[in-house]
Amino acid sequence: MCLSLRDKSLFRQQAFIGGNWVDADSGRHVPVYNPATNDVLGQMPWMGAAETRRAIECAEQALVGWKKIIAKDRATILRRWCNLILEHKEDLAQIMTAEQGKPLSESRGEITSSAGYIEWFAEEAKRTYGETIPAANKDQQLLTIRQPIGVVAAITPWNFPAQMIARKCSPALAAGCTVVIKPAPQTPYSALALAALAQEAGIPDGVLNIVTGKAGEIGDEMTANPAVRKLSFTGSTVVGKVLMEKCALTVKQVSMELGGNAPFIVFDDANLDLAVRHVMASKFRNSGQTCVCANRIMVQKGVYDEFASKLAVAVNKIQVGPGNEADVTLGPLIDDRAIDKVDGLVKDALDKGAKALVGGAPLDIGELFYKPTVLTGVTQNMQVFHKEIFGPVAPLYCFEDEDEAIALANSTRYGLAAYFFSRDVGRVWRVSEALEYGMVGANSGTLSSEATPFGGIKESGIGREGGKYGIQEFLEIKYINMGLEE
Ligand code: NAP
Repeated sequence: MCLSLRDKSLFRQQAFIGGNWVDADSGRHVPVYNPATNDVLGQMPWMGAAETRRAIECAEQALVGWKKIIAKDRATILRRWCNLILEHKEDLAQIMTAEQGKPLSESRGEITSSAGYIEWFAEEAKRTYGETIPAANKDQQLLTIRQPIGVVAAITPWNFPAQMIARKCSPALAAGCTVVIKPAPQTPYSALALAALAQEAGIPDGVLNIVTGKAGEIGDEMTANPAVRKLSFTGSTVVGKVLMEKCALTVKQVSMELGGNAPFIVFDDANLDLAVRHVMASKFRNSGQTCVCANRIMVQKGVYDEFASKLAVAVNKIQVGPGNEADVTLGPLIDDRAIDKVDGLVKDALDKGAKALVGGAPLDIGELFYKPTVLTGVTQNMQVFHKEIFGPVAPLYCFEDEDEAIALANSTRYGLAAYFFSRDVGRVWRVSEALEYGMVGANSGTLSSEATPFGGIKESGIGREGGKYGIQEFLEIKYINMGLEE
């Protein structure tokens, strides 16, 4: 291990099943790399269907006791987990930056927000209310209660290796469910470190399990096994659709947090400095590898040139480098597929007439670095308009009026996040209503918080994580009709 952690026990290279740290049955491991240096960070067990089945059995057994623990006590355990995460924030951030590449300041922020989700859902555990329903007959009492859905399978991506797990597991555990998690193979160590702290916090054996390895086999077992009653997935729309289809065979509930193609609209009447500040945060955080990243930056004709110049000044100040170096504000991309995809989209745009105002090519400080890029003169016939870029590239489109901006913004099968900037209060309401998205930032480029519902419509997903809605995804409503004696 090339990390200097204060608590070395947080760096785990084994999976976590039924409270035990275990290797794959075959003994096989695969390496995990640091994307900034291409160094091997460590190994990860290469597990498949048999280990996943065992993890599900452990979760099923643990469910019996966990769902009976009173909500206040489950909340206390979750709160201990949250506190331990905050106590070990620096080590967790180091692990995340090493495996994912993001700047340390962003990793620290992600650890804090992950703890925030756990704290929020620890509180929500106590608020899973049922209701009474006025009955038509005197001899009846009608009521509903909410009960945990059962064993939950969670599949997460590499771009937010801790937050995605906190956002799924803490509401599931708070509701009284047990979970089996498959983290992304690029970033298993953040997940395993969280599991080590969950164990220390007193989360009972089998309540939280992590399997690492072959996505196809693990996913097939999770979706086919009748003991799993819910799949919560974050990742691409393509994979989400496949998993939904497989879940249909056992009629599992699903929550899907999928891809996006976020418009970021700047109207003539916008505060341009504010819009630039927010587009920087929305576009370049995590090297542009977020599902809510500004993907299509649409600027009204009257302010197009001024906005482009101001954005270029800001983008030229970005410091690119390995995320653990001081002052670095943009790290590498996750792997060579990501570099190839981003570079291909930029080349296609340049070939079709766009101009690179800033950047426009890979950066030669390592294999996975890409120059922060601003493209002008971008049009709808370029691939960059339709595809999720997932890289530090800001394409600028020009539009004439509000109707055109809304039509362009909505002309996608995605519907996750949208942003716009305007100082006209009438327009702020009109556009907020007209955008076909699950989340809208009106004069804001940031959206996510534990207190608010996160999720998309159309092909961006089903369900909401966070806020008062997040825990409902893991609860079933049971209606009880109590007959009374006269
Ligand atoms: P991905 O390819 O869909 O992978 C996501 C996870 O699914 C990984 O753990 C992956 O493991 C696993 N997976 C892939 N095929 C599977 C299968 N057949 N069965 C079971 N698991 C399978 O997505 P990604 O490229 O890693 O992540 C980026 C995508 O996630 C983007 O589209 C982004 O917009 C989306 N995202 C959405 C949100 C949201 O909240 N809406 C948040 C973050 C990211 P392997 O890598 O081992 O295949």
